[in-house]
Amino acid sequence: MLRHLKPKPALAVLLALAVAAALAVWHPWRRPAAPAASAPMAFTTAGGGTEPAGTGGKAYRYKVRAEDGLAERPEQFAAEVDAVLADVRRGWSADGTRTFQRVSADPVDFTVYLATPASTDRICGQYGLDTGGEVNCGAGHQVVINVKRWTDLTESYRGRPQEYHALAVNHEVGHVLGFGHVDCPGPGLPAPVMQQQIFGLHGCLPNAWPFSDTGALLTGPPVPTPPPTQQP
Ligand SMILES: [Zn+2]
Repeated sequence: MLRHLKPKPALAVLLALAVAAALAVWHPWRRPAAPAASAPMAFTTAGGGTEPAGTGGKAYRYKVRAEDGLAERPEQFAAEVDAVLADVRRGWSADGTRTFQRVSADPVDFTVYLATPASTDRICGQYGLDTGGEVNCGAGHQVVINVKRWTDLTESYRGRPQEYHALAVNHEVGHVLGFGHVDCPGPGLPAPVMQQQIFGLHGCLPNAWPFSDTGALLTGPPVPTPPPTQQP
């Protein structure tokens, strides 16, 4: 009995292999080519603009764009970005070396995007940056804020969206201005905005602003590698 059943498992294996081989090339249930990989990204530029903020120095013009389909409207996002860049007491204009003005048409010095994780990866990837669907980036003339991070915040800024949003904008705009990463200067001190705070505060306290209340640049020991433009 066992003897004459022996060939059957072999036949079953052959049959299974044949079916598997056929299925490997025939996928009637699969959609043709994933559209996400090559679909054009659609962004809308926030209308209107602002007066220049700051007391002098180099004048930076920027525009703000939000990806179509996000809950956050371009004007809403722009209002937050504007408020951060117009903070003349603690923001990048505080030392009088630069002013910021939002415009809605070119020419601009940089663009601030609010983008889906996939689009963030695509734009940042053009600069060789790996944002992994998780983080923001600032490179060249682009600041890209990942809507996932904008919404979910980070561990240190849980429940404080306004603070995290200020940090995200200040950090990535800092890259566009030419600032690289620095580390925590010492336990209990404010974390510099150019510290990658998302990866740990290293004993520093959360801080979202480049300058202190007394006008001192909050910085720390430079992080040597890789080059600043190669990191998000
Ligand atoms: Zn960075």
